[in-house]
Amino acid sequence: MQKIFYALLKSSYFSYYIVLMGTCLSLFIAWQSALWIENSEKSRFTVASEQILFLAEKQLQSNVQLLCGAAAFMRASTHVSREEWKLFTQSQYLSKRFPSIQAAGFSPILKRSDVKSFEDSIKAEGFKDFAIFPPSQNAEAIVIAYLEPFDIINRKAMGFDMASESVRKATMDKAIHRGLPTLSSKIELVQGSTPEEKAGFVIYVPLYSTGEIPSSVEEKQKSVYGFVFAGIKAQTLFKNLLGQNYFKVDFEIFDGTELEMNSKLFDSNPTLQEARYEHVETIAMYGREWTFNFKSNEVLDIGFNRYIPYIQAFFGILFALIVGRWIHALQRTREEAYKIAAEQTKRLVRSEAEVRTIFQAMHEGIIVQNAQGVIVECNLAAQEIFGIPQEEMLGKTSAYPRWSAIREDGTAMPTDERPAPKALQTGSAQENVIMGIVREDNSITWVQANAQPIFSDDFSHVESVLVTLSDITEYRKSKLKLEEYIAIIDANVIISSTDLEGTITEVSEAFCTISGYTKEELLGKNHNIVRHADMPDSLYATLWEVLKHGETWRGEMKNRHKSGADYWVEATISPRYDDVGNVIGYMAIREDITDKKRIEELSITDRLTKLYNRLKLDELLSLHVSMAVRHETPFSTIMLDIDKFKSVNDTYGHQVGDTLLQEIAEVLKFNLRREDFVGRWGGEEFLILLPSTTLDGAVLLAEKLRMAIEGYAFTTVGNRTSSFGVASFKYGDDTKTIVGRADEALYRAKANGRNRVEAEMHTCELT
Ligand code: GH3
Ligand code: MG
Ligand code: MG
Repeated sequence: MQKIFYALLKSSYFSYYIVLMGTCLSLFIAWQSALWIENSEKSRFTVASEQILFLAEKQLQSNVQLLCGAAAFMRASTHVSREEWKLFTQSQYLSKRFPSIQAAGFSPILKRSDVKSFEDSIKAEGFKDFAIFPPSQNAEAIVIAYLEPFDIINRKAMGFDMASESVRKATMDKAIHRGLPTLSSKIELVQGSTPEEKAGFVIYVPLYSTGEIPSSVEEKQKSVYGFVFAGIKAQTLFKNLLGQNYFKVDFEIFDGTELEMNSKLFDSNPTLQEARYEHVETIAMYGREWTFNFKSNEVLDIGFNRYIPYIQAFFGILFALIVGRWIHALQRTREEAYKIAAEQTKRLVRSEAEVRTIFQAMHEGIIVQNAQGVIVECNLAAQEIFGIPQEEMLGKTSAYPRWSAIREDGTAMPTDERPAPKALQTGSAQENVIMGIVREDNSITWVQANAQPIFSDDFSHVESVLVTLSDITEYRKSKLKLEEYIAIIDANVIISSTDLEGTITEVSEAFCTISGYTKEELLGKNHNIVRHADMPDSLYATLWEVLKHGETWRGEMKNRHKSGADYWVEATISPRYDDVGNVIGYMAIREDITDKKRIEELSITDRLTKLYNRLKLDELLSLHVSMAVRHETPFSTIMLDIDKFKSVNDTYGHQVGDTLLQEIAEVLKFNLRREDFVGRWGGEEFLILLPSTTLDGAVLLAEKLRMAIEGYAFTTVGNRTSSFGVASFKYGDDTKTIVGRADEALYRAKANGRNRVEAEMHTCELT
């Protein structure tokens, strides 16, 4: 069953079959229920028709029975008076119980010869104008004698000879023959305004003088003496025939067997034009044949039932459409699923091929070994690393003699230490194992190996191992080279790093060498461990200012060796940043410039006195002259000459003279400020440069120096004096003019007796 369903599902027309079959089935069911409804309606119609027939007969029967009762009443006495007839009808509640009876009367059969006496007898009753009508010469007259209810209309009929009218005459003859109540054909009654209201018939009951109804026709004709009769209004008789509890069916009653308008006695619904069902039935009614034409009316027709088949068909087709749509959707989904599956399979095949290509093309060597360590897969890169083609590699283990492995230090690596056997043995991944693969020709490929064990589906055992080998030969070479370079740099470049507070975080070997400290002594210490006292605070202030602005500071500085000695470096200090650009500290690279500094010092130092030499003094002079011009700041010079120096040489020798010169230099240095400069101008003459100092200030200082020398006890020679010439910068000065003026003042000091200070001649000063 399921198979058939799936087979059907595959058919692309299946959903249409379902819709078609569902529609046919729905229409069939609708048709069947329409038939069933029609049949049930028909049977209801038939039942209703039969009821009407039955009720109509009963209705007529009750009227006929009244007349039969009247006939019996007439037969019971020899003469029934008009008053007695009236009383009889009243006793029967004629007009109340039998509203359809227009009139109930009695007619005697009169021989022509008796007509006159009959007329007289009636006249004698008080009906003076009574006369039989219409006038006739027939042998017999059947005259209406009594008639009840005796109203104005019925009164007009009194005296009417019914034998004169053919329909009535024929009926009466028929009644005599039958000896039974007999109906006339349709007659038009006097009462009523429309043809329907006028339609009626007469019931005749013959009266025989014999009492019993004679059996033969002759006897019946001989003994008949009159009729009891009643005119019946068909409309009143059959109206409201059906009570509320009956199926409503309309009907027409025709006198005779034909459905002719002229003979129509009754129509329950004259407005009804067409009926769904019709049924015609003719029945015998008291000597006549009446034809009933039954018609289904709206009450029977219209009902919800009629729409049931349409509703069934609608919902049936709707259901079929929904099921069809659902199946269609199901098929679509199935097709989609198949398509996706096919696509996936195609992709899988493609991706497998791709993976294989990638596997082969991978730069990394890949080897798969089974649980026994036997190589089952290897790619091109692996073959290159081992220097062996695939055919030879497959089926071998790590212990194959055409290759061997060494550790980083060059010693042999035993098989069970290699990553693949180890991963198989321990079940744990071996990561980043560095080893050298030594080939048959002794060439070495350095690899970084990873071995990943692959477990069985239930994780109970290692099934295989995936080994990846990255060729790091070149990398290793570069790394070693780099390490070499780093070692060189470490040994030769003076590098230090600090954090933001200046705490040392890293130092190179060269730094340790130049500073005299070990690495351990430096790390964690503040960098000012190497700061030299000679370096002014202003230098460090500038340095920090520059670094704080994120810039690089460059400059020369004297540092202090652990031993207390100094060394000179040219430093480049830069901020250090983290990955997101925040300053995390500083790094300094230094160059040892001690030697350069020594040479530089020598070139500007007087060898004997260790003061600045003439060269440096000239440089300082021109520098200060230009600064004074630019900044309009004062500066002064003092020229100094030892008094009677020649005699020292002459008396104690040249050596003692030299010593005196050195001691003079010490005295001068001792009494000068840090910012002042002093140098040997030549022989036993010294020049002192005083920045930011006026002539008066310079004279005061010269005086101080003069006294210092005068009071100093020199080696061997004892007390000595010297003379001073002082000059200040003036607008328009150059180095020569200012020194010239100092020299001139000195000359004057000598001339004025020595051991004294003379200032330049007072002229116009700049400041
Ligand atoms: P005065 O008071 O006028 O200056 O007399 P003085 O003897 O000092 O005369 P002067 O300044 O002219 O003498 C300079 C002498 O200084 C000449 C030279 O022999 C001597 N002298 C110059 N340079 C040196 C030196 O480097 N060493 C020694 N020992 N003597 C020097
Ligand atoms: Mg001198
Ligand atoms: Mg001199």
